[in-house]
Amino acid sequence: MRHDKALAQASALLQRVPLLDAHNDLPWVIRIDQQARGDVVAYDLARVHQQGDTDIPRLREGLVGAQFWAAFQPTAAPHPARTALEQIDLIRRMEEAHADVFLPARRASDVAKARRAGKIASFIAVEGGVGLENSLSPLRIWHAAGARLMTLCHNESLDWVDSATDAPRAGGLNAFGRAVVGELNRLGIVVDCAHVSHEGQRRVLDATAAPVVLSHSNALALCDHPRNAADDVLKRLKDNGGLVMATFVPGFISQALRDWLARSRGRGAAAPVVADPKAALAELEAQRGPAPRATLEQLADHIVYLVRIAGIDHVGIGSDFFGGAQPLGLEHVGRFPHLFAELIRRGFSEVALAKIASRNFLRAMREVERVGERLRRERGPALGRLEDYPGA
Ligand SMILES: [Zn+2]
Repeated sequence: MRHDKALAQASALLQRVPLLDAHNDLPWVIRIDQQARGDVVAYDLARVHQQGDTDIPRLREGLVGAQFWAAFQPTAAPHPARTALEQIDLIRRMEEAHADVFLPARRASDVAKARRAGKIASFIAVEGGVGLENSLSPLRIWHAAGARLMTLCHNESLDWVDSATDAPRAGGLNAFGRAVVGELNRLGIVVDCAHVSHEGQRRVLDATAAPVVLSHSNALALCDHPRNAADDVLKRLKDNGGLVMATFVPGFISQALRDWLARSRGRGAAAPVVADPKAALAELEAQRGPAPRATLEQLADHIVYLVRIAGIDHVGIGSDFFGGAQPLGLEHVGRFPHLFAELIRRGFSEVALAKIASRNFLRAMREVERVGERLRRERGPALGRLEDYPGA
């Protein structure tokens, strides 16, 4: 193989500047694994999982410095509050079982601490507000358990926030939804609008006192999936101080694949949460012929666009590796340096790439921490449930 100068430069950069990935669904993969069934030790992250996309050897190969793990719970499944706690617990068991690799990270400054210790900063994110069961109290328990980012909803609208992939129910974000955002601000938890409808994202930007992120979303202008970010929201990130974090989900990258999937499933439909996403795609292909493939180069197009609209200070990476289909060139967590190599070929400076790798996110997270400290001095915990918020 010829010597790849850009790849060598990307690898050298990511050895100096930690790479932070804002979204990985490995905890759910471990939960539904036929053998492990949620047992982290039995799953054995220390070995390469050829069938999967995330394990310790390839996190190391990919030079990952900080990882947000999703404590995901499906909206429609029974026991959402219990499931959220079980998935937070699973991530904490990952940190304990591999204490030599993962540093339990609860503050932005833990990323540098992890680097000095030769470890990967491990952050907990809750994906899906369904686990609140319409109460503010779980937010404080999630915070106490270590959660530092919350994706407000998943593929379905809730009583208080509208999903990008479902019919609106809450006018974007209603009074109880604003109380959720306010309490996340007070606790110093990053508010994540990735799955929120475009109107809901605008309402969250109106309501929040701290930077927000779209932890795994691309540009709507290049691929019209409703999960991708509209230009007006991207522009508002400049004032808010937040980030859009480019994601590897093939159907959010490639318009051709998006159209193919929409024809197969019905336009606007979200990808269902299935036990085996690769088998689900294979089944569609058996009926309809081969699907168009999304590529690393197309993802780089999104990043170029996101930087153009949101600004270089407001873009990061949120892979959404989830054990499913991935773009050509980004098949597993070991491939991150190849994405940065492509961005080098596109003319990005090392300063710009360091911002995308982690500096932008860590700046936003430090601001979320500062706002939280200030709000905790100013006001006590917000109490109540949905029914206590008139008009909600
Ligand atoms: Zn997601």
